[in-house]
Parts: sequence; structure tokens; C-alpha cells
Amino acid sequence: MLKRLYNEARFALTITTKGPVLIRSGHPTLTGPDMTPVLTYRNNDWQVYLPGSSLKGVMRSHLEKVCRTLRPYPPVVCNPFTMLQEKAYVEQGRLVCPEYADVFCGDKFERRSKETLRLKSNRDEWKHIPDNNLTPEVVYTDSCPICRLFGSTEFIGRVSINDAYLMSDIRPRPTETRDGVGINRHTGGSSHGALFNLEAVSSNVAFCTDIHLRNFECWQLGMLLLVVQDMADGLVRIGSGRSRGMGSITASIGELTISYIGLADEKPTNEVWGLGKFLGPDSAYGTQPDDRLLLGTSSNEQYIGIRRLSVFADAALSELSSQATRSFITRLHDWQIPERMTFAGLQFNR
Ligand SMILES: [Zn+2]
Repeated sequence: MLKRLYNEARFALTITTKGPVLIRSGHPTLTGPDMTPVLTYRNNDWQVYLPGSSLKGVMRSHLEKVCRTLRPYPPVVCNPFTMLQEKAYVEQGRLVCPEYADVFCGDKFERRSKETLRLKSNRDEWKHIPDNNLTPEVVYTDSCPICRLFGSTEFIGRVSINDAYLMSDIRPRPTETRDGVGINRHTGGSSHGALFNLEAVSSNVAFCTDIHLRNFECWQLGMLLLVVQDMADGLVRIGSGRSRGMGSITASIGELTISYIGLADEKPTNEVWGLGKFLGPDSAYGTQPDDRLLLGTSSNEQYIGIRRLSVFADAALSELSSQATRSFITRLHDWQIPERMTFAGLQFNR
């Protein structure tokens, strides 16, 4: 996938708990609470942390909802839990899948690249001619907006989110134990023997993670900054027990750095260039040639070796965020779904 590096955006995201937060370890203890938070060994101690994979999952599912709301029909984002093998059936030698628009991009690519498809419903293998043109360019072009940023089983994605570690080491395990009780569905009272307790990270505990976006299109930066803004506004919850009021957080960014490699003076200092601007009109990746953001003021720029760095903080960061978010909304609205991703009606032979 793109063996070159055109642009990168990096920022540190601080996440502060606003109530009990539990990302479960999955290891019940014999004597302690039934549910305990994930721990990592760091600075000579076992500490609580927020796994990057959990944060990425929460951001992804929040953005899936945002995209489905902003662009309800025809749907442009896939559902990573809808698998073709489970939803498709064969009728008169043709593969039919009423929910095909929802099928996970990774699963659609797998169907296109493999000669056979085994359907859960009838345990038969159905053969078709594989698509040998599934190059990285085609995979990127045909992926939905969410998979273009977060990746799928076929493509690694453009964003990486590190584990979020405690900002202060004074208390490595700033947690509290809470009791819960199962409810008897018949009587509405407490269910006998259903008392459980859990250990959750307390309120006002700050974690910090690094987020890194590489070879990004401007709208992808906007999509990422939109979910960060929603986290800052307390609209995104993380971990277990979200329906019981757990998982409240807030988030903030200090500064955001965009760097370009080998880009000399051709870029004005009040512009941000996306991948499409570098790839130009002949791009095989389905990017747009005028992929750039025009900002009202010049950003704070510096050269370090072969890198040109633009640093955004305070008002400049707010402007970048709103311009990038606007470009995301426009791009999503205009999104064209490639025909090969909209219909599963291939001819199959046993
Ligand atoms: Zn997708």
C-alpha cells in the first residue's frame, strides 16, 4: 500500500474519566471482584490503561453512526459484523444478499478474490471466477469511508491509536469497587445469588495516547477530528456498562503536527495538503486532485531535516478542525459507491 510517505498528522490525546470506566480484562479473580480492568506492567508496576484497540473500536463505531446519519441513503459505510457468508443465499444459480450494502468491506473483497465461497445456509461451496485485479489501489478505492480510515481485513487503514497510559504514576491503580445485582425477570426484585462486583477506574483519572494518521486525505483528518470533538463534548462512552451510566469520558488535544516529507516551498503556509493533492489527477486510489484545506491564517511552520512541519494549537487548531470536518461532510455527501461493491448477484456454479 503506497510505498511512499506523503503526509502525516500526529497528536497526543488526553482522555479523562468523568465517571467509573471499566475496560474488562476478561480474567475473573478467585477472591477479588468479578470484573477487573485491563492492566499493563509499566514503570515497575501493574497499571490500569486504555487499550488502543478499544479506543479505535469505540471511535470507529461512533463514526459509523455519524456517517449513517449524515448519509442515510444509499448507505455508504459497511457494517463490520455483517458477513456475506451468513447473509447470502443462492437462488437459481445466482448469489443473492439483500443486506449486501451492509456487508463488511473486507468480506466483499474476500468474496471477490477467492474462487469459492462457502455459504453457512447450505454448506455448499459455490465457485466463481476470482477478481485478479484486487490491487492495493482497487482495495483502497472500493473501501467505504470508514474502512479507508480504520482498515478492514483487506487493508491496514490509515490511523493508528496507541494504548493510553496514566498521566500520573502516583496511583498505578486508581480504581474503586462497585456492587451490582442481577434483577429477577419475574418478580422485578433482586435475583438470588446474582450479586456481583466490579473494579472500575475512578472519576477524574487522566490517560494519554498518541494518534498517528499517515498518507491521509483531508476529509479523513476531518473524520478523526470530528470523533475527537464528540469525545471532548462527552458524547462518546468507552468500556463496559455504558447502558448503566459507566464509561463517561472527556478528551482534549494540546497541539497537532502535520508533517510532509521532501515538500519544499510549493505549498503555501496557509494550506494543508491531503494525499489526493500529491497523487494528482491520475490517482489510482480514488482520491481527489484538489485535496487541500485553505486556512484563514498561516500555520506555524518549521523545517527539520527533510521534513516540513506545520504545528496547530489553540485558534489555529480549532480552524483546522472545523475546515477538515467540513471537508469530511462534503466528501461523505458526494461519496460514490463503486458498482462492484453494491451488488452480489454473481453467477455461481457448483
Ligand atoms: Zn467498510
